[in-house]
Amino acid sequence: MKGRIHSIETFGTLDGPGIRFVLFMQGCMLRCRYCHNPDSWAADAGRTMEVEEVMAEIEPYLAYYRASGGGITVSGGEPTLQAPFVAELFRACKERWGLHTAVDTSGFCEPDHAAGLLEQTDLVLLDLKLMDNDRHAALTGQPNERTLRFAKWLSDRRKPVWIRHVLVPGVTDRSEDLLALGKFIGTLNGVEKAEVLPYHHMGAYKWRLLGMPYSLEGCREPERHEVARAFQIIERGRGKK
Ligand code: SF4
Repeated sequence: MKGRIHSIETFGTLDGPGIRFVLFMQGCMLRCRYCHNPDSWAADAGRTMEVEEVMAEIEPYLAYYRASGGGITVSGGEPTLQAPFVAELFRACKERWGLHTAVDTSGFCEPDHAAGLLEQTDLVLLDLKLMDNDRHAALTGQPNERTLRFAKWLSDRRKPVWIRHVLVPGVTDRSEDLLALGKFIGTLNGVEKAEVLPYHHMGAYKWRLLGMPYSLEGCREPERHEVARAFQIIERGRGKK
């Protein structure tokens, strides 16, 4: 089975526990204003790889993934768009090496489509953006109902989940939004932790290369104390503090 791949990282430390092989898939239906991989949007771009070709890329580094309690994370783009391929890859990684598997998803996905993939997935990294539907649509180009439905579906199955929220000053850092997000997270089962990821503009140059206006031009990256504050508000919403 073939998948369309955007890129590969062999020593990922930010996308799940331990050191991880991170496979970035091609294709995404969202258009997040802060996206640092807009070159991953087109579903027909990237390069095609067989499951076995990806396995061959993983194998040389297996000792690091195992010793660190790591594994494989499939990110994007949006990995659930190629759910059958990712499911096959995860199944092979588990059968052959017993690797821990994670998907990093926007949750913009119908659960029925991803059910087979999620059976092979140990951990879901779920990116939640804004609870206000209109502002979510303005930020991502899509409403949030589908993502929230996906989150509830995971919750009903008590799937282990790490929630991630990208903190963009002036866009996703309002106290009331963070509190509402925390309250929603507080209703979910299976959430092992919530993370706040600081916005960065390292991907802005890709927008320019693609000839697209970067609407966050001039937006600053958040300070460390702002990230800590956002985390505290979300945790308060969850009922943790
Ligand atoms: S979901 Fe991820 S890949 Fe898709 S537009 Fe948003 S940030 Fe970019």
